[in-house]
Amino acid sequence: MTIEQIITKIKDQSQPSELKLIHQAYDFAKKYHSGQKRLTGEPYIQHSLHTAFILTQLGADAPTIAAGLLHDVPEDSNCSIAELRQNFGEDIAFLVDSVTKLSLVNYHGQERYRESLKKMFLAIAKDLRVSLIKFADRLHNLRTLEYLPDEKRQKIARETLEIYTPIAGLLGIWHLKWQMEDICFRFLYPNDYKELAHKYEVEKKIELDQYIEKTGQELSKALDRLHIKHEINGRFKHLYSIWLKMNNKNRKFDEIYDVFALRVIVPTIDDCYRALGAIHSLWRPNLGRFKDYIAIPKPNGYQSLHTTVFGSEGRATEFQIRTSEMHAQAQYGVAAHWSYKQFGSKKTAPKLNWTKEILNLQETNPNTQDFIQNIQLDLFKDRIFILTPKGDVYELPVGATPIDFAYAIHTDIGNKASGVLINNKIGQLNASLDNSDIVEIIIDKKQTGPNPDWLKFVKTSKARSAIKQYAPKSVLQRFSPLQNLRDLWHQIKEPRK
Ligand code: MN
Repeated sequence: MTIEQIITKIKDQSQPSELKLIHQAYDFAKKYHSGQKRLTGEPYIQHSLHTAFILTQLGADAPTIAAGLLHDVPEDSNCSIAELRQNFGEDIAFLVDSVTKLSLVNYHGQERYRESLKKMFLAIAKDLRVSLIKFADRLHNLRTLEYLPDEKRQKIARETLEIYTPIAGLLGIWHLKWQMEDICFRFLYPNDYKELAHKYEVEKKIELDQYIEKTGQELSKALDRLHIKHEINGRFKHLYSIWLKMNNKNRKFDEIYDVFALRVIVPTIDDCYRALGAIHSLWRPNLGRFKDYIAIPKPNGYQSLHTTVFGSEGRATEFQIRTSEMHAQAQYGVAAHWSYKQFGSKKTAPKLNWTKEILNLQETNPNTQDFIQNIQLDLFKDRIFILTPKGDVYELPVGATPIDFAYAIHTDIGNKASGVLINNKIGQLNASLDNSDIVEIIIDKKQTGPNPDWLKFVKTSKARSAIKQYAPKSVLQRFSPLQNLRDLWHQIKEPRK
């Protein structure tokens, strides 16, 4: 990556003074990072350039791109924020300072985790550009994750999925969210990733591509007859979201029917509805799956018409119809609005309602706890985060029990689990855990294996398969009066603790 590539990308929409600013920021960053190397072996400035380039793809303004180039200068050199302010002014110094502060918050242990989440949000509410720089920084770090030691990889990938991508989703920046998610997925669940990628890319995609091509051509002809200008392309669900769907709904890959959609981009809103009519007259619509997000946009501002029809051979086929402006919004979220504004378009003002909501929340709930809990409701709808007494965080589905948690830590802990402390109080092994509970599993080293009855309440496949695997060996134990005695013993023993 070179500074020229960045300049080329933004030249058309920029003033000469803005290009000069970006050159200056580059020279400054290069000077302070000179001699520093990334773990990839590349000069450090490459990371700054890539971060800045991702920002240009989001349509960021010149000060943001400059701040992207400078974002690691104070952290990795003796250059102070004051010096940055002197050279680049208050605005850029503020951006760099905020990004630096954000990266100082570490994710480990309940309090600090909550705190980091809060800081991230407040940074967004104060200035969206800070978060965009942080996202760009994170995306490039993820792209070079394989050069880090395994433990660090896992930590960064987990933190990204828990904090960054939900926020990117709230901001509607799908373009970044999906890229980040697939990289994290690959590092956190390498086997699942490989299997799914193979199924998808090798077995399914060629056939889907042909189908999309054929369906697109058919629609294209119909739209030509109606003199509707259009662009049609296939859009594939990214791997992580397919995987989530398979897990959450317990479906096989072949049962996920919306892995692809055809995207139809037309000039005006009027054309959107006319194109919809054309689609419905070619193929029979499944009315239960029609959504008008143009009339009623999603809270993050997303607009499109969605319809699923029974395509050729009765195949469920989803169409998403939108204008190019809506398309920019769908890919880049609030960033799109902000670049429209920047380039002097008279289009709608940024839809930042949810930012306002966050600020209101903060005002009405000065208490951090409430603030975070309110936010988490939306952010982490189907997942809970459970902590060990040492502050390690484990992600589990809603309704998970201490046994699921025990197996999430280690199979041996699951197999030998005999009791549990939930927030320092004795709890039941089949209890439904709540978000951010601190859970300590009590193990009985003499216990020979899991209790088959646990199968009745565990929620995770990891726990289920571990218990099942053990079951044949302990068939006798299942009916053993000794086991019952042991259960009884635990019931008597526990309250004394
Ligand atoms: Mn960085």
